[in-house]
Amino acid sequence: MKAHLIGGGFGGLAAAALLIRNAGVAGQDITIYEADERLGGGFFLDGSPQSGYNLPGSIFDREFRCAFDLLATIPTEANPKISVKEQLFTFNREHPFDDQTHIVDRDLRTVHGPRYGLSWSDGFALARLSLTPEAWLDGRRIEEFFSPKFFETEFWLLWSTLMGSLPQHSVVEFRRYMNRFVYLFPDLSTMAHVLRSPFNQHEAFVKPLVAWLEPRRVNFLTGTFVKDIGFESSPGRITVNRLDYERGGAAALGHRRAGGYRAVDDRVAGG
Ligand SMILES: Cc1cc2nc3c(=O)[nH]c(=O)nc-3n(C[C@H](O)[C@H](O)[C@H](O)COP(=O)(O)OP(=O)(O)OC[C@H]3O[C@@H](n4cnc5c(N)ncnc54)[C@H](O)[C@@H]3O)c2cc1C
Repeated sequence: MKAHLIGGGFGGLAAAALLIRNAGVAGQDITIYEADERLGGGFFLDGSPQSGYNLPGSIFDREFRCAFDLLATIPTEANPKISVKEQLFTFNREHPFDDQTHIVDRDLRTVHGPRYGLSWSDGFALARLSLTPEAWLDGRRIEEFFSPKFFETEFWLLWSTLMGSLPQHSVVEFRRYMNRFVYLFPDLSTMAHVLRSPFNQHEAFVKPLVAWLEPRRVNFLTGTFVKDIGFESSPGRITVNRLDYERGGAAALGHRRAGGYRAVDDRVAGG
């Protein structure tokens, strides 16, 4: 079996590692196509004063069970006997998080009031939204469900800076995040129950994962943008039979062969 993964973010890297570890796929039969020159997707740490910086988060949720299952078998770079998971949990045990000040006003006073500044009607609106079936929310925006005052509350400031939400964003996404992270509500201002990685997420998770995949000879095609995928007509199942991608300004085409794709340009995909 050959596997072709589009995107070398944490998701693509984790998929490659799981294919090797759980499904017994050989690393050399896995190809990761990554548009960027570097791996890590949203977890990359980079920038300059001119272009601005991407500072990946350092928060991990205790319920990221699949990630922890994987990271338990990925050694840290500093000590191969210590797994990435063990390093993360040890760090959090030794340095428990308890933010005393999350938001300050213009006079540098801590902003933290009862119920995060939410009124009862805000609370009802949140509960109503949480219980509304997703199918009824298609195409609607967050701002349609709350009063303008809601967007001035401490809750909204905490939530929007944590989750990247804006009032005009999809209410479906907002609802999914809310239902997924509702257990964090009591600790939103102290962040007491989230896990912090000892370094930024690129150093903490992406580098050790790549270091584990490289000696297993996974093909990393960085700087490779997948432009299109073709589908075979096969009732009852979805089969991809073509990948169009561009690498270093040159177009390439991968065709399906028994068990995988073979790039027209063999240097590129090693297919
Ligand atoms: C500012 C910010 C802070 C965050 N903080 C946290 C945090 O603290 N904790 C946390 O758990 N999560 C955090 N996240 C979310 C986290 O970054 C994502 O959940 C994670 O990166 C998703 O991984 P992914 O591999 O699915 O997607 P991505 O990381 O987005 O990776 C997708 C990759 O696919 C590549 N790609 C896309 N299209 C193509 C194509 N056509 N051809 C080839 N390559 C392609 C992209 O270049 C990218 O490298 C944060 C996100 C942001 C933006």
